[in-house]
Amino acid sequence: MSLSAARPSLSEFAEQEAAALSARGVLRRVVSLARPSPVTVTHEGKTYLSFSSNDYLGLSRHPKVIAAATAALESGAGAGAARLVTGNHPGYSALEKALATWKGKEAALIFGSGYLANIGVIPALAGRGDVIIADRLCHASMLDGAMLSGAKLVRFRHNDLAHCAEQLEEHRGKGNCLILTESVFSMDGDKAPLAALGELADRHQAWLIVDDAHGMDTQGLEAAHLVIGTLSKALGAYGGFACGAAGVMDYLLSAARSLVFSTALPPSVIAAAHAALDVMQAEPELAARTLAHARRFTALLGLAEAQSPIVPVIMGESGAALEAMEKLKDKGFWVTAIRPPTVPEGTARLRVTFSSAHENQHIDALAEAVKEVTP
Ligand SMILES: *Cc1c(COP(=O)(O)O)cnc(C)c1O
Repeated sequence: MSLSAARPSLSEFAEQEAAALSARGVLRRVVSLARPSPVTVTHEGKTYLSFSSNDYLGLSRHPKVIAAATAALESGAGAGAARLVTGNHPGYSALEKALATWKGKEAALIFGSGYLANIGVIPALAGRGDVIIADRLCHASMLDGAMLSGAKLVRFRHNDLAHCAEQLEEHRGKGNCLILTESVFSMDGDKAPLAALGELADRHQAWLIVDDAHGMDTQGLEAAHLVIGTLSKALGAYGGFACGAAGVMDYLLSAARSLVFSTALPPSVIAAAHAALDVMQAEPELAARTLAHARRFTALLGLAEAQSPIVPVIMGESGAALEAMEKLKDKGFWVTAIRPPTVPEGTARLRVTFSSAHENQHIDALAEAVKEVTP
């Protein structure tokens, strides 16, 4: 009997697995769409008003950002090598200084993306024999970092300080201990109690690591021993970073494998992010306008007041969220349905995100449409 007959080919294996995902309603597909402006998408010849990007300040299209990226393209489309080889072009140190100042930390270290920052930083700070205590809603990239580290991973109920304290008491152990949370939760838009978590961390000699990917202000970050950020969302470009004490960044430069073994970001991307940071800091009214839009929407729908540009409209089952998304598309709005496993079972939702590039009438029209398509 031939061994190969008993085993699926790679294609058979993939088809079986995809069929199983499909049966569970979690098979994903991408759709090809263009983003002619920060708040519109076109798909199959139709243009929709979009409430589904993280371009909160419209900076991906800002003339100063485009100009900076275009000028930097003259020095090459790619960086040519990893940062520790010959890829560390001059834009890096200038942007790292600016990022550290923005977040109120001594130093910053840029990674290829926010995902790469998390899977590089966490295993550099914890390993076998150590403990990682994470908010139950922490982003997949933090959890992947925790799994790569080999440390014991324990979760605490979302934003529940008492449960976090309980987990610390039970699991703290003798090794390193990290507490992981997000400043603004990516799928819920609510904020973590950072000052209280910082105190808890200090009391247990643990280190608080805050993923600030969706943060646009620096409220509460002084409590964090280390902050993770992204250049890919409000800054409208691409890339990620860590910031904290200078000595910690020096160590991570050698120890974070996702930085050491991956090519540096293109000069144009770094230049775009730096120009975007300059605009964001020079024009604080942009972030204020985005938050005002989110609050206008939650007020119109009678939801809890928005704390960030992210507002979830919880639908329950995946089917209900997908159906609401389709009905909104028919009305000319693009609002992506988010389903398990990205969010917990039974909490499929429309994830609505606002941008300073929206107008008040856009918010009013969306609120009206959401009322019509939700029970
Ligand atoms: C988007 C996101 C990341 C990943 O950042 P990228 O730059 O897109 O890789 C990490 N953490 C959180 C909370 C995020 O929302």
